[in-house]
Formats: sequence, structure tokens, C-alpha cells
Amino acid sequence: MFQRRTTGSVVCPSCGSLVGVRDDKCYTCGRRNPGLWGFGPALRNLGVTFSFAPMVIGASATIYVATLLLSGGAIRMDSIMALLAPSTPVLFLFGASGAIPVFTFGRWWTVLSAGWLHAGLLHIVLNMYWVRYIGPAMVDILGPARTIIVYVAAGVTGFALSSFAGAFLNGLPIPLLRGAGFTVGASAPVFGLIGALYHYGRTSSSIVKQQATYFAVQAIIFGLIFPGIDNYAHLGGFAGGYVMSAFFNPMTRERGDHMIVAVVLLAATFLALAASIITGLPLFR
Ligand SMILES: [Zn+2]
Repeated sequence: MFQRRTTGSVVCPSCGSLVGVRDDKCYTCGRRNPGLWGFGPALRNLGVTFSFAPMVIGASATIYVATLLLSGGAIRMDSIMALLAPSTPVLFLFGASGAIPVFTFGRWWTVLSAGWLHAGLLHIVLNMYWVRYIGPAMVDILGPARTIIVYVAAGVTGFALSSFAGAFLNGLPIPLLRGAGFTVGASAPVFGLIGALYHYGRTSSSIVKQQATYFAVQAIIFGLIFPGIDNYAHLGGFAGGYVMSAFFNPMTRERGDHMIVAVVLLAATFLALAASIITGLPLFR
């Protein structure tokens, strides 16, 4: 899978023109080492090898099962949303975000990990349904790497806003918006996908815009009906996705550099999960 190319030409990860794999400079844009030591083609194939939606669903489901197993007898069944819910200490251990982890415990990196945790069976099923539903369309529009970037970045903006609001804004008399003490779930990054889709629709396709508006309205209504939904995280996620799409300009092609950023963001996410568990264990016991 990670085969190294040593001959022939490859696509420059900066500008997309053909360069020799051993060239030390792209003659079109001037980028150094455009063949990425021969790993450029393998990097390009990553997006094809790991489809976005199965990757997100597989990782989220694995982590959900792990948090359930670790909760043991503390698995909660209080309500329909909390059916098969991992215990709060276990979610904290794995990297739940919110005002308490971020501002009380200084676990700022949880803005990266919380989007991969879920607080119940219905919670994960609904969120993964959205990933499955919107993910492939997003990959068609932005490309696999930029979709991952939108997804991770929207999780960060969503949980950062929710944690900040939980710590500083809960005194404000804003209806339906409450910052979270604890928050988890893929809906912040999912709202990022909706935000990016909405941006694309606004600039390029009225049908997509209509579709994205329909998604957003549906998700907002859901957030208003069910108690305990983190509307700040949704708002922050939507804004993050919208801004990332505007930054990328969906009309341009995805480049090899985007895949490098996507891989770095996924690695940072993995490190955030690892850091949560390692630094959380002494608090947990
Ligand atoms: Zn170039």
C-alpha cells in the first residue's frame, strides 16, 4: 500500500502539474521535492483506500464499544437518548470536551477527541446516519482529504465554542443555547459537513443549497425538541465547516498537500485520544 515510486512522473502536490518523481523542484510552481521522496502517489491513493464515511463510522463505533466495555456495570439506561450510555467518568477519560474538561482540568485537546465519542446508542446511530448520508456527497464536491479537514476542523470549532460558552456565556439570557459542562458526539463535525455543503450550495448550486438548508433545519428542529442537545457545538461546527469550504473554494481541485494536512489532523486526533487516556487514568482510579 505504501509503495514508493522511483521512476516516471507524478502530480505536483501544490499545483497539480506533472513532474518527474525525482525532480527536486516543480517547474510550474517552484515547490521543492514535489515527488515527496516517491511517496506522492501512495499519499494520493489514501483517500481512495480509506473511504471517508466507513473510516469515520468504523473508528466511532470501535471507540463507542470500548467506552461501553470500560463502563461495565456503570452503563446507563436512563432515557431513550441515554440508552446504552457509557458512564460519564469513562467519557471524560476518553476525551469528552466541554467547560469542565477544558477549563477546570486544562484538557484543551479534547476539542479534537470529543467528536469521536458518543453518549448512547441512539446518539451514535443518528450521527453516523448523517455521516453516511452527507459524507459521500461532500467527498464528491471537496475530495476525500478536504472532507476530512472540514470534519476535524468543525469538531474543533464546535467544541471550542461550546466549552467557551459553558464556562463564560451561561449567564446570558439566550434561549435554547446552553454551553456544555461535558459534551461529546459527531454532531459538531456533522454540522461542519452541512456548513460546507451550504457554502458550496450558496456559491455553486441552488439544489445543493436547498438540500443543505433542509438538512440544517431538520437537525436544528431535532436539537430544539430533544433536551440536552449541544446547540452551541452545532453552531460552532456549522460555522467551522462553512469557513473551511470558503477557504478551500470547492471549485478548485483537491491537491496532494490537502492529504498531508488531513493525515496530520487525523494523527493529532489520535494523539488527543491517547493523551486523554494517559493523563486521565490517574484521575479515573
Ligand atoms: Zn507545482
